[in-house]
Amino acid sequence: VSRFEGIPMAPPDPILGVSEAFKADTSDVKLNLGVGAYRTEELQPYVLNVVKKAENLMLERGDNKEYLPIEGLAAFNKATAELLLGADNPAIKQQRVATVQGLSGTGSLRLGAALIERYFAGSKVLISAPTWGVLFTAYYVYISYIFVWEFIQPGLSYYLAGNHKNIFNDARVPWSEYRYYDPKTVGLDFEGMIEDIKSAPEGSFVVLHGCAHNPTGIDPTLEQWEKIADVIQEKNHIPFFDVAYQGFASGSLDEDAASVRLFVARGMEVLVAQSYSKNLGLYAERIGAINVISSSPESATRVKSQLKRLARPMYSNPPVHGARIVADVVGNPVLFNEWKAEMEMMAGRIKNVRQQLYNSITSKDNSGKDWSFILKQIGMFSFTGLNKEQSDNMTNKWHVYMTKDGRISLAGLSLAKCEYLADAIIDSYH
Ligand code: PLP
Repeated sequence: VSRFEGIPMAPPDPILGVSEAFKADTSDVKLNLGVGAYRTEELQPYVLNVVKKAENLMLERGDNKEYLPIEGLAAFNKATAELLLGADNPAIKQQRVATVQGLSGTGSLRLGAALIERYFAGSKVLISAPTWGVLFTAYYVYISYIFVWEFIQPGLSYYLAGNHKNIFNDARVPWSEYRYYDPKTVGLDFEGMIEDIKSAPEGSFVVLHGCAHNPTGIDPTLEQWEKIADVIQEKNHIPFFDVAYQGFASGSLDEDAASVRLFVARGMEVLVAQSYSKNLGLYAERIGAINVISSSPESATRVKSQLKRLARPMYSNPPVHGARIVADVVGNPVLFNEWKAEMEMMAGRIKNVRQQLYNSITSKDNSGKDWSFILKQIGMFSFTGLNKEQSDNMTNKWHVYMTKDGRISLAGLSLAKCEYLADAIIDSYH
């Protein structure tokens, strides 16, 4: 008898589950719109030219593979904070930013969560409803410890297993949700969001998607961000930004960081997790950072020392390859400009596909339904408003693989497949 007899089967990861099912489907019209990774018009994975160039530079220089310090590559940490806040941001000049290289967005969020658990005991984290992650069926609830934990959280929706929630669950940080998505308008529930942030206990952490909200693709306007900052400030909350798509949403690095910069410009203390998975296509290199913008250089130094202390027993020190790529690309004006052009190209392709999908749907559908939400959403995803049964129809009848919350990845769609997808969506809706 195995000593591991008492360990139950873990539920499959919902996103990987979509990819597995896609692989097993033998239909030649099948379409994988589940995973959030950029594909070319030919639906192939894409390695950016600037990444290849940076890798060549590394070989030419003969860079070694010695350990990095716990906090990561210094040139990366400098570049990433400057990219986020703008090189001339007073917070950087005044040395109020603690930056530690993390294991991409997820690992950086996890470090931030660990900091909250250790030094803000009893504080709650607010997460948008919905957030990054996908619908899980209630069937799995009883077999996973994580779900037992979710069950005892106040205000939870037990059937949702977003990665944000998993991250804070595993860090033993209690969370609840704030309203974000309004199914009636397939838009932002701004009033609900403000009310929920207002009624949370003073000093809560509020997780905000810096741009290109996942999964809805619905972002607040700059005026709305100002109002969100007002309430957060009023309530002494601490914003915790997740920036996974800088440059990828609008095509402009600065525009996509406007939300974070607005909070920092008010002198607020802010946490920001960054990821280079999407904007540099470095998914598997696991490169990102956690930044804590503090009100004094002294507290930034202390916070940084504690972030390192949290990282050390978990993974000792981060990987160097992606950090060097980012540092080389951002630090070299020629490569930096080339990156911006490639990012615009990627963001542009997704925008074209979005427009084409809208055109195809509106030219085929005569039900009078308003589809303008497709064009209003931004970033890699479109939240179609399809419910679980309708999403099942997309997959079972049309071989379109997507997450069951109705999210489709436009990055996995080509212009040529828009007509087909439009037929599938219209059929599934009605
Ligand atoms: N945060 C959000 C909102 C995301 O959509 C993602 C990726 O899909 C991430 C964070 C982190 O991804 P990674 O850990 O690959 O950087």
